[in-house]
Amino acid sequence: MSFSSIFIPGIDRYCDRWCDRCAFTSRCRHYHIEQHLSSKAAPGELDIFNAEFWMQMQLELSAAVHRINLQAEAHPFSPDDAPLSLHRSAREHPCSLNALEYAGLLDQWKSSDRIWPLLPEEAGEIIRQYHYFLYPKLVRAIEVALTSSAGSTVGEVAEGTAKTVLIAIDRSLGAWGLVYRAYPRYEDDVLPLLLHLDRLRKSVEALFPAARAFCRPGLDE
Ligand code: SF4
Repeated sequence: MSFSSIFIPGIDRYCDRWCDRCAFTSRCRHYHIEQHLSSKAAPGELDIFNAEFWMQMQLELSAAVHRINLQAEAHPFSPDDAPLSLHRSAREHPCSLNALEYAGLLDQWKSSDRIWPLLPEEAGEIIRQYHYFLYPKLVRAIEVALTSSAGSTVGEVAEGTAKTVLIAIDRSLGAWGLVYRAYPRYEDDVLPLLLHLDRLRKSVEALFPAARAFCRPGLDE
């Protein structure tokens, strides 16, 4: 079998470039090229391990969402919270600003030096990976959407980019759920972050209603 037949065209177009945790290194041309330029693990070496890792985190996400739903009465999400229109500039869009606020909240955590060093290893890895990921990616999705018309290829790019944001939010929620479970005594610190991320998730879903269903080459097939 030739190398070109094992690679999935466009698989790296809507990924998060977190190759060390990717379950598709064996099918990614970008990874193969990078591997030749660095000391990365051989393609496929981590794929099964990483697939199991993300299946476990999916369970954490379900548990976290369940926990958030229990809080729904105290912190209801109103449709008014969802900025449905794209009328503002991407950087100043309420969704983008919420993503920026999340990064700021984590900065505060880090500087307070309280819980940050205690984060469970897998959770800490995910939270750090997506700390500064959400805002620029969301700005990019909104920028593209602002310049595209419905059903166009550019519109697909916006939905695909928004999907990477949603997945990063899901994973971060799962990770924070794990922190919550490990340190129930820090509930007052962790719960606001969970709720903030959950609202951001709902806002992005409202702004990009087709994003969840978007099929990313290779990753969602
Ligand atoms: S698809 Fe996976 S291996 Fe390829 S660039 Fe994206 S994260 Fe890295």
